Amino acid sequence: MNGQVEKKRQLIDDGLRSIWFPFTQMQEFSPEDVLVIAEGKGALLRDVDGRDYIDGVSSLWTNVHGHRKEQIDRAIKEQVDRVAHSTLLGLAHEPAIECAKKLLEIVPKGLTRVFYSESGSTAVEIALKMAFQYQKQAAGGNPGKTRFISFTNAYHGDTLGAVSVGGIDLFHAVYGELLFPTIKAESPYCYRCPFGASYPVCKFDCLRQLEYLLATHASELAALIIEPLVQGAAGILVQPPGYLKRIRELCTQYGVLMIADEVAVGFGKTGKMFACEQEGVTPDIMALGKGLSGGYLPLAATVATEEIYNGFLGRFDEFKTFFHGHTYTGNPLACAAAVANLNIFAEERVVEGLAGKIKRLTQGLQPIAKLGHVGEIRQRGFMVGIELVADKGTKELYPPGARIGNRVILEARKRGLIIRPLGDVIVLMPPLCITNEEIDRLCEITLESIQAVV
Ligand code: PLP
Repeated sequence: MNGQVEKKRQLIDDGLRSIWFPFTQMQEFSPEDVLVIAEGKGALLRDVDGRDYIDGVSSLWTNVHGHRKEQIDRAIKEQVDRVAHSTLLGLAHEPAIECAKKLLEIVPKGLTRVFYSESGSTAVEIALKMAFQYQKQAAGGNPGKTRFISFTNAYHGDTLGAVSVGGIDLFHAVYGELLFPTIKAESPYCYRCPFGASYPVCKFDCLRQLEYLLATHASELAALIIEPLVQGAAGILVQPPGYLKRIRELCTQYGVLMIADEVAVGFGKTGKMFACEQEGVTPDIMALGKGLSGGYLPLAATVATEEIYNGFLGRFDEFKTFFHGHTYTGNPLACAAAVANLNIFAEERVVEGLAGKIKRLTQGLQPIAKLGHVGEIRQRGFMVGIELVADKGTKELYPPGARIGNRVILEARKRGLIIRPLGDVIVLMPPLCITNEEIDRLCEITLESIQAVV
């Protein structure tokens, strides 16, 4: 056996012996499943054998400008030469200040304050705590407003607060006793409408149910939390036009704060910088993560309006302080990467250049939609979900044990594409820097891989 093969086998053995992989059934995770990545460039990743793959999910919906983007690489290296970490508790540093300033220039108008953290889950956790505490101590005070309304099929992260407002049983049900109870509204999963209706004839039965819940519980609700435009982890469930705008109107009407969780959809993925922009919406609180540092380092932000921020002001002994913050909150390296990321968006006019690529992707998906076991393709910008079904006519699902989605992504891997399924929904979410030729290849491989399995 040659040395390179032996080294790789050793790496995989060591990995499987020492790492408990996230969201992974370890009993079924075999050496053949482990792909060891060595490097990346642009929309490509290369494994330890030197094989290239299109990174079809931008390293979990986060690497927006591709791998080894020169400006971000440089920003991190230069920051290392200054200081790698210094706390934001009582001190400040230039990258955090610069990043917050730049972020506030591009988030929906009316959001004025940035609170840093390290992951999408923590950004959501902060949003929930902020909304809760704000209601308790805002001028006039609404101490009875202590509950949250969220949606079925929602995913907001895997810390306990985020799980409490989540709505995916597979991930969340087991933790039931640990969670705080929330009010759940049906999300618009139009392909499998919970009201048995069909859009647009339905005229939004789901929104009528939501309005009923808001009207009934307004006096006890601190906030509503939503993934704007697309519920990502549920399988790219795209909301119909006008839905988000109506949510904003209803929150205002019933005095419930609106939290927009843009962790997945933010930073260009829907075709605009932020999904809320697509419907001219400003939430009261917005959670950002993933693409904030360009997919380089763990950084997240919870951005709030001045009104929310003011609710926390007072003398120390009024105890209105937001007592929250982690060791690495606003880490300088991550903030330096984020500043470079935001500069790239501005200087390379990234969002302005997306329309052509999105169209190309739409075209590339058309042959896939015709396949016998593709129930529906949902696309919003660079976010795509291909729902595979056992029977296209009845929309019957495959039994979970068949693991069709997983088999498709292993086929894709053989053909040079890295993607990840959500159950039997094949998700594509390439980096925004992907070329037209790579988009074509991404679609071709996806088509062949589905055909190889069903
Ligand atoms: N919110 C949404 C909408 C997400 O899609 C995710 C992750 O996929 C999160 C929050 C959690 O982010 P993280 O995995 O960085 O904690």
